[in-house]
Amino acid sequence: MNIKEKLDILSDAAKYDASCSSSGSSRQGKHGNTSSSGICHSWTPDGRCISLLKILLSNVCMFDCVYCLNRRSNDIRRATFTVDEIVKITTDFYKRNYIEGLFLSSAVFLSPDDTMRRMMEVAKKLRREKGFGGYIHLKSIPGASDELVEEAGRYADRLSVNIELPSNVSLNKLAPDKNKEDIFGSMSYIGKNYLENKEERKKHRKAPTFAPAGHSTQMIIGASPESDRQIVTLSSGLYDKFALKRVYYSAYIPINEDVRLPEPQIITPLLREHRLYQADWLLRFYNFKADEILPVTAPNLDVDFDPKTAWALRNYHQFPIEANTASYEWLLRVPGIGVQGAKRIVMARRHTSLDFSHLKKMGIVMKRARFFITCRGHILDNLRTSPQMIAMTLKPKKSVEDTQLLLKI
Ligand code: SF4
Repeated sequence: MNIKEKLDILSDAAKYDASCSSSGSSRQGKHGNTSSSGICHSWTPDGRCISLLKILLSNVCMFDCVYCLNRRSNDIRRATFTVDEIVKITTDFYKRNYIEGLFLSSAVFLSPDDTMRRMMEVAKKLRREKGFGGYIHLKSIPGASDELVEEAGRYADRLSVNIELPSNVSLNKLAPDKNKEDIFGSMSYIGKNYLENKEERKKHRKAPTFAPAGHSTQMIIGASPESDRQIVTLSSGLYDKFALKRVYYSAYIPINEDVRLPEPQIITPLLREHRLYQADWLLRFYNFKADEILPVTAPNLDVDFDPKTAWALRNYHQFPIEANTASYEWLLRVPGIGVQGAKRIVMARRHTSLDFSHLKKMGIVMKRARFFITCRGHILDNLRTSPQMIAMTLKPKKSVEDTQLLLKI
């Protein structure tokens, strides 16, 4: 099989992995800077679109995860790159400016160690022999030895270990060859090394890096019955325990037929994935706890409202708050006020007493914020209302696009 045929098979096989969007690092390289990771096209934290070569090293798998196209029992075309082939493709594409980096994942080919070694060799050759300064995101194979992971981290910007499913019960059922000890063991090892390396580099700026863009994971949503509350609680624990940079949520796409999977006509709405990302954002940047976003009484995210608005409606007795005196943390909890908006309010009110026209100029989304905030003790337009009325006002009118978002996979 020639390299072009392998590329067709192994780039197509990689498309189901969502854990490569960007957030994060910069590496001064011979050929310029790149930031962060991603699939084909991704966005850096500053909004820059970058392109990455996203491929598998191999789709020959010794495992048989029920939901996966590459599982051992599927009759599909198989291919495996050599280390040199990936190095060649990556450098060729990079020199031609087709890509700014590499996202390399793999099925478990021969053994976790064998797969991890080959992936590490790709990164090592790119950095050491080719002087490659682009972004490298390597998928770490659970069960691979710590030494190989440690070496991979020396050359990669980011490592990731897929958690795959939101509970151990579902992992045992749908990915019977995998086990949580290997997955959490790898995450723990990477997280520990990442934090230690960060500290080391504060003391010695020239100390070698270890995955400077941190590590991430991916969870499949909808292949198993866990509630959004279980998922967000798990993510919150992963952030706290393993210093993860990102949890990626991937709406389950029915590829295989198997009694252990949901009926093929049961489609996971993209809106669910979208809402989980919004909830995740609240965990990471808005100081929300998982329990606040999804209490026992509301275990699934609202279809009509983003999680912050849903929380504010449930907690309307704590509003309105005064823009001129509320703490930064409380400003962040107002629907329509983001991190930048809250910072602008805190800065501006040092010099003047704010009114609603100031807030509008700062980019606050008054359509939502007006129900939850006062300026100089006044509510906008003397708007006195109830959570029910606010919900009716804010409830989106379903457009054709919304319906597509709800249905599309
Ligand atoms: S380990 Fe499981 S999810 Fe990964 S490629 Fe193999 S069958 Fe697919």
